[in-house]
Amino acid sequence: MNMHIFDKLKNEPIIAYLSMEIALSSDMPTYSGGLGVLAGDTVRSAADLSLPFVAVTLISRKGYLNQKISPEGWQIEQPVEWEIEKILTPLPVQVEVEIEKRKVKVGAWVYPWKSARGTIVPVIFLDTNIPQNTPEDRSITDYLYGGDSRYRLKQEIVLGIGGSRILKALDLEVRKYHINEGHAALVTVELLQSFKNCDVEAVKNLCVFTTHTPVEAGHDKFPYDMVKDVLGEPIPLPLLKQLGGADCLNMTLLALNLSGYINGVAKKHREVSLNMFPGYDIHSITNGVHSYTWTSPGFQTLFDHYIPGWAQEPELLTRADIISNQEIWTVHQKEKARLLQLIKEKNNIEMDEEALTLGFARRMTAYKRPHFIFTDVERLKKINRAGKLQIVFAGKAHPHDFEGKKLIQQIIQYSRELSPEIKIAFLENYNLEVAKKIIAGVDIWVNTPMRPLEASGTSGMKAAHNGVINFSVLDGWWIEGCLEGITGWSIGPESEEDGNPQEIFQKEISDFYGKLEYVIVPTYYHHREQWIKLMKNSISKVASYFNAHRMMESYITEAYFHQPFLPLTNGSIVKAEKN
Ligand SMILES: *Cc1c(COP(=O)(O)O)cnc(C)c1O
Repeated sequence: MNMHIFDKLKNEPIIAYLSMEIALSSDMPTYSGGLGVLAGDTVRSAADLSLPFVAVTLISRKGYLNQKISPEGWQIEQPVEWEIEKILTPLPVQVEVEIEKRKVKVGAWVYPWKSARGTIVPVIFLDTNIPQNTPEDRSITDYLYGGDSRYRLKQEIVLGIGGSRILKALDLEVRKYHINEGHAALVTVELLQSFKNCDVEAVKNLCVFTTHTPVEAGHDKFPYDMVKDVLGEPIPLPLLKQLGGADCLNMTLLALNLSGYINGVAKKHREVSLNMFPGYDIHSITNGVHSYTWTSPGFQTLFDHYIPGWAQEPELLTRADIISNQEIWTVHQKEKARLLQLIKEKNNIEMDEEALTLGFARRMTAYKRPHFIFTDVERLKKINRAGKLQIVFAGKAHPHDFEGKKLIQQIIQYSRELSPEIKIAFLENYNLEVAKKIIAGVDIWVNTPMRPLEASGTSGMKAAHNGVINFSVLDGWWIEGCLEGITGWSIGPESEEDGNPQEIFQKEISDFYGKLEYVIVPTYYHHREQWIKLMKNSISKVASYFNAHRMMESYITEAYFHQPFLPLTNGSIVKAEKN
């Protein structure tokens, strides 16, 4: 086995990135959505930047899910078989964790993620499917977000405790554990018990925590009866309660109390998190996407020609203005044709390369409001008569999310009702490959989340890398990315405005249809030069900043290699006082 990939990491302490899901490629279905894609982009940028970095996740043997849509428009889930033995390499290490007082063996596989420059970030996949384990324990690492809450707690023990033991078994010294969302928070318990007197400050020095959840209900919580049963008492229960919550073990709280650097994933999300957890020093590092991965082949070639070095330094994309309008348009139309070809093959729908095409693809779940576009169907038809519209959808609903599945069905029903006037395609089985085609092949990227539930969102950043213009609710990253009429358009009130939900909804609806009818359609059909200006601005003003290299550089300077700072006051940075 290529153990030498770890040898190089023995010269200096590493960053250990722990995440329940990591999306590396479509043939490794170990992710469900944005969190996993962000983790994948983090790995890709860490490799490009040659960081001493190791990522740890679960193997999710049964994948997330393969999505089919029945003739009734209902999502059917199939398990995804993936060729673990062909894709991953087994590691000659094994550790034990205690679950329900049993010794459960945890093995590991590795995927050495290699950057274009040849630098490698190992991604470790933890696996409990080991013959000595009971059948039940062998299945702990099978289903991503599957099973009940007890199953989830077992997975989190494997990720947090098993993960850190595997790193130790590999003889790696860790500078920081980066806890990507609360799922991995049990690493803090493992660290606590390794220090004399459960030294909280020593653990905080070692941990960085990124929270992704803007709602109270979204945080993983476990009743202490279950915790005692499943986890046992690796640290005294009163201490655990003090750190993880009095009533139940809240993984976010545990990570907040034991991390020396904490951040939300956009500026707004920091504020929301501060309101949810008052008194914590929460910073923000706005998410980004891996530029090279999310730039389509056509635009890669164009950027290589005009902006050499852009993939390694995406901030150079600010120079996109020098590209001729004609070339931007030609490359965009080629990407559009590729998408429409895919739609023809998969859905047997013939779309029009000249028609204004809207895209909406992400996890199908209530707060994302994928059906928002259909709030006023008559208005949509009227706009379509002034300038032809067509719409592309994709997205999976979680198997337990009945609401999400109903939304998919609604979209399919609308697509039938509105055909052939407005052509609407729902592409099955949204994954990294499908995402790459959609984000590059439409003209407008629509996002209509219910505020403030989109912690960041990243798909709009991917679209911007391909000159696709954003049209979105002011939530998450778009609050920072939107310059009205310059980088795209907003839907609904300013982010600070909170009024009654009905009023906000009315404003969103009137903005959506109003801007579509009076600004977007006329610009697309009658002011092509102005349209291309916005496409270029998406590249030069959005992609140049909302990329994973910029994000990782912030993690390096703020989180991994520095003592904590307090936020700017009066324009100067104040060093945090140790207490
Ligand atoms: C980027 C991406 C997401 C996240 O999309 P959001 O709009 O940010 O929620 C989800 N799934 C896949 C496959 C993606 O590529």
